[in-house]
Amino acid sequence: MDTKLLIGGRFEEGTETAELVLNPRTGETILELPEASASQVDAAVDSAAKAFASWSRTSPAERAGCLLRIAERIEAEAVNFALLESLNCGKPISRVTEDEIPGVVDTYRFFAGAVRCVTGAAAGEYLPGFTSMVRRDPIGVVASIAPWNYPLMMMAWKLAPAIAGGNTVVFKPSEQTPLTALKMAKILAEELPEGVVNIVPGRGATVGNQLINHKKVDMISLTGDVATGKKMLQAASYSVKRTHLELGGKAPVIVFDDASLSDVVEGLQAFGYYNAGQDCTAACRVYASDKIYDNLVADLSSAADAIKYDLKDDTENEIGPLISGRQRDRVASFVERARELSHIEVTAGGDTHGDNGFYYKPTVIAGALQQDEIVQREVFGPVISVTRFSDVDDAVSWANDSDYGLASSVWTKDVGRAMETSARLRYGCTWVNTHFMLTTEMPHGGLKQSGYGKDMSMYALEDYTAVRHVMIKH
Ligand code: NAD
Repeated sequence: MDTKLLIGGRFEEGTETAELVLNPRTGETILELPEASASQVDAAVDSAAKAFASWSRTSPAERAGCLLRIAERIEAEAVNFALLESLNCGKPISRVTEDEIPGVVDTYRFFAGAVRCVTGAAAGEYLPGFTSMVRRDPIGVVASIAPWNYPLMMMAWKLAPAIAGGNTVVFKPSEQTPLTALKMAKILAEELPEGVVNIVPGRGATVGNQLINHKKVDMISLTGDVATGKKMLQAASYSVKRTHLELGGKAPVIVFDDASLSDVVEGLQAFGYYNAGQDCTAACRVYASDKIYDNLVADLSSAADAIKYDLKDDTENEIGPLISGRQRDRVASFVERARELSHIEVTAGGDTHGDNGFYYKPTVIAGALQQDEIVQREVFGPVISVTRFSDVDDAVSWANDSDYGLASSVWTKDVGRAMETSARLRYGCTWVNTHFMLTTEMPHGGLKQSGYGKDMSMYALEDYTAVRHVMIKH
């Protein structure tokens, strides 16, 4: 297993306190990983700053070549990457192999193409005797900080647009899931010039905090919790760094009477519990119209009970455990507090599973009301709440009544109603008669406290480059 930091072209062990990296299926320790020291973080930032001088001057074609080779290398080692991600996160192997690795590879390939096709305003003589043109140039050293729910995918979403745009990066994986990032270090060192990407594992309070406050870091990119995002903004304000924030979510799902019940239930079963609900777009906050409500609760509860997990043959598992005992206990405490309310009925799950590992049963909370904590706060676990509505205006205003603004969905056969409701939702994404589907060509990112950075698509390339005006006197 790869355990070394990547600093410039060097591989070295971290020299600070060791973090336990756990197997969430068993709770056992996979390994103890020493985190990067302050001087190692400094060295990583210095090497990124040094590499910027030449990397920022490479041609888009040259950078595209590197990205394409990185994609090929990941594809060639797909099985090993999938096994490692599955071990470290507890994800079913089929989910990593079929969903995540192809998405990761596609992200590097997309940005290889995208950087060669950047468009912008036309150059011209906007003042007589002067020619103006707009450039999109790299920003500098980016500190990229990732969460634990999709480690390799989040790394791709952050690295690919940043290096395609000509920036250099110091990447910090989550302290809970560093293993695939450390395996990527070898590929990145071989396919990129020295110092273009540096990898420093460690905790948020130490390595992360040093990075976001570092004078030589020009931009901070975070996918993580809203509270962490606020800390980034405070740190960024001292030196006016650029920030790219992808924060939490609490996706509303509006289900009208005329929606196909089987499609809705199938969709919620897949998209509410995917990755054990540890997904910022998880379909976790259902608003069901009066006439469909009872059948939806009954069928969704059966569907939740039918989800397969913790089976010996991992190829049969549909979801895994939570990432940690702490996260499982957090999810359990949300459900316990909800259960204490007299109007709430837990119609599926509602308990931990097994003595080993960090499993929580797929759960349905029926009868939830708008002001309930379970409706308002991000649980980040396999828990779906269902709230009844009779007036569409209530459904839309409840859906929008959230600090979050990442993802949402509307389920109806009426195209007009789908369009009108989608237009009224204040979310970075609204799906109609589906949920959760992502494609590399389209932006992913939020409104409100879900942040404002866009991942994937040309918009990510825009976020990782700066618009500049160059004017020439004739
Ligand atoms: P987290 O905020 O606790 O940690 C994310 C990263 O930030 C980790 O690498 C952590 O070490 C680092 N960090 C924590 N404190 C820091 C500090 N003070 N300074 C610098 N770095 C610090 O989040 P998490 O628990 O790993 O992930 C779950 C959260 O991420 C959820 O809220 C989820 O919704 C969100 N998320 C959002 C998206 C999205 O695209 N919007 C995607 C995945 C996850």
